[in-house]
Amino acid sequence: MPELPEVEIVTRRLEAALAGAVVESALAPGMNVMKTFEPPLEALAGRKLTAVRRVGKMPVVEFGDLALLIHLMSAGRLKAFDKRASPKDRASRVLVRLEGNRELRLREFGTKQRAWAKLLATDAVAADEMVKSLGPEAWPPPPLEEFAAAIDQPRHLHPLLRHQRDIAGIGRSWVDEILWEARLSPFKKGSELGPDEVERLHAALHVLGDAIDHYEETIGAQVPDKVPMPLRIHKREGQPCPRCGTTIEAVFFSEHQTNYCPKEQTGGRVLKDRRLSKLLK
Ligand SMILES: [Zn+2]
Repeated sequence: MPELPEVEIVTRRLEAALAGAVVESALAPGMNVMKTFEPPLEALAGRKLTAVRRVGKMPVVEFGDLALLIHLMSAGRLKAFDKRASPKDRASRVLVRLEGNRELRLREFGTKQRAWAKLLATDAVAADEMVKSLGPEAWPPPPLEEFAAAIDQPRHLHPLLRHQRDIAGIGRSWVDEILWEARLSPFKKGSELGPDEVERLHAALHVLGDAIDHYEETIGAQVPDKVPMPLRIHKREGQPCPRCGTTIEAVFFSEHQTNYCPKEQTGGRVLKDRRLSKLLK
């Protein structure tokens, strides 16, 4: 799933490519993709695309005083094309047809249709229930006090940092990088952190900004569907830690994994699986 840095580069490139373009028509071939019905998607026709931005991991495409709030879920992608989608393209969920034959397309890979969009008044996006439920943005980092309050909870850091209601933008890949940068165990609890550890974790959020800088340098006008992410720890089990050379370990869950450096993050302990990991803090 695209996380904060990946969605940020997508929205920046889309805005650069499409801002000012007039909408010819808009339609939603995806079943149940639109979560709002008033105004209808067709209301975009004749409007100018004015901005593309991001809230947490969600892109927001603005057309003057109307905005499309999009949740990509795990397999959705938002991309600009120079020609219209074939009606047979089963991945199409929302198509915004722009002048000059261009098209802003929300596509979703795989068989599940889970991505969704809402057409809202632009000034109502912040009050949307999903947007309102988000914790502070992980990047740019919130003030230290706000961050400390957000993570002061008796839950493991790995799920805590990925929980959008506590802090917005981090997912399964970047959480490993942030915890490694902060030299903290994924199984330490938020409420157990000392002030210096909270500061380290807060400072480690810079990896998100670094990733965006990396994308700015390496990604051209078109963002690939699968962005090559500059990860150093996530899914690198068996490789040497880039900082100390210790072999990176992994804990596997049913749908995701967490990677860490045992020497620097867990006091030398190797966490083999969930059951064992529960014994460790
Ligand atoms: Zn290390």
